[in-house]
Amino acid sequence: MSEKLNPFKMAQAQFDEVAEELGLEQSVRDMLRWPLREFRFQLPVRMDDGSVRVFFGFRVQHNDARGPAKGGIRFAANETLDTVKALATWMTWKTAVADIPLGGGKGGVVVDPSALSTAEKQRLCREWIGAVWKNIGPRNDIPAPDVGTTPQMMGWMMDEYSKLVGQYTPGVITGKPVGGGGSLGRTEATGFGVIVTVREAMKQLGINSAGTTASIQGFGNVAQYASIHFIEMLGGKVISVSCWDRHDKVAYTFTKESGIDPRFLQKITDQYGTVDKKAAQEAGYVIEDGDAWLAKDVDVLIPAAVEGVIRGDNVAQISDQVQILAEGANGPVTPEADAVLQERGIFDIPDFLCNAGGVTCSYFEQVQNDMNYYWSKDEVLSKLDQKMTNAFQGVLATSLEHGGLYMRDAAYRVAIKRVKKAMELRGWI
Ligand code: NAD
Repeated sequence: MSEKLNPFKMAQAQFDEVAEELGLEQSVRDMLRWPLREFRFQLPVRMDDGSVRVFFGFRVQHNDARGPAKGGIRFAANETLDTVKALATWMTWKTAVADIPLGGGKGGVVVDPSALSTAEKQRLCREWIGAVWKNIGPRNDIPAPDVGTTPQMMGWMMDEYSKLVGQYTPGVITGKPVGGGGSLGRTEATGFGVIVTVREAMKQLGINSAGTTASIQGFGNVAQYASIHFIEMLGGKVISVSCWDRHDKVAYTFTKESGIDPRFLQKITDQYGTVDKKAAQEAGYVIEDGDAWLAKDVDVLIPAAVEGVIRGDNVAQISDQVQILAEGANGPVTPEADAVLQERGIFDIPDFLCNAGGVTCSYFEQVQNDMNYYWSKDEVLSKLDQKMTNAFQGVLATSLEHGGLYMRDAAYRVAIKRVKKAMELRGWI
């Protein structure tokens, strides 16, 4: 299969394979290969210098049979409608695997948010809501933050929506700041969930987690909390993390064989996930090229940055020591690399299972918004642990039922069956 596949073609190819294995009817295939709805719109924004710049925005609702569409909004310079469609598709599988009553959606804007002032960002966020507010809402589509967007931006978006509909509507968007309708625990939810799935995988493989090692790609939201919980929950050691340096426009790996200190690194990392090289070097970190994280002799690899990073041309760099690959990012493994992982017997925890902690906590946020009653952080994380453990065990059970089926295929089976059942129960198919 060509490595030049765009993300949406990749999402369709993954679906087609499972659809064939499950012998799905053509009508089900036709519905699930494509999004239900796609919106593309212009966003004219008044810049601080008085000029008007026109940005392009997207919202895609892939499926909402199990509940309102759900998924983040990415602000990225290389955003495309196809990326958003792929991510919306994966959200449908993610909410189904996590067994939360939501569907799949995703949004985006083609913009480098680091090039905007705070006021410009706020105007862009409000404009985005102005363009789609009639098509989203707590009962039909609930956005959230993702790459390039922040809790503060969700707060502005919630405010704009509330103004347009004429009533306070915190449940329209999740990932809001705590104190502004947000849930405790949301910031660390995805990274925490990633490590819950790693913990369950270790149990299944008979690995004692204490003293195990990990190498992580990225040092943004997901990677930071995956690092922290790998150390604090599992008693393991993270030896490297990496980041995209937005000043040098190149990726770097930060390595410390004795174990990185994620809380220190957080202090020297900016809001876009770029680590301060000089401060890291002074603290004894070795700075290597951006791909170095992949070739480390560790037990667990966690790609937690961007899609398409483990490919046919670099998968061979993965050390023989690696037993678990936990996909913190969305779509980090291309189909060609995936075939090699399977062949080598690496236990892969697929993205839409591994990183479902974020959307599960978003769901908890919405439940709290609806009740207008908020849980403690411990309560949120304990409920999240339960949900993620159940999700992992559900997929594992399907894998074992089918003679040790690859976890990605097992997760697709679980998800697609659940979505198909909801569509049947609603009389769509
Ligand atoms: P983020 O913007 O907070 O961080 C991204 C990190 O990746 C940054 O440290 C950046 O420097 C780094 N990076 C970017 N390109 C890189 C490259 N080529 N090499 C090395 N590092 C690189 O984003 P995030 O929220 O942590 O999301 C990371 C991934 O996880 C994305 O695929 C996202 O879709 C997915 N995800 C995020 C959440 C969430 O709750 N934040 C939930 C589910 C999935």
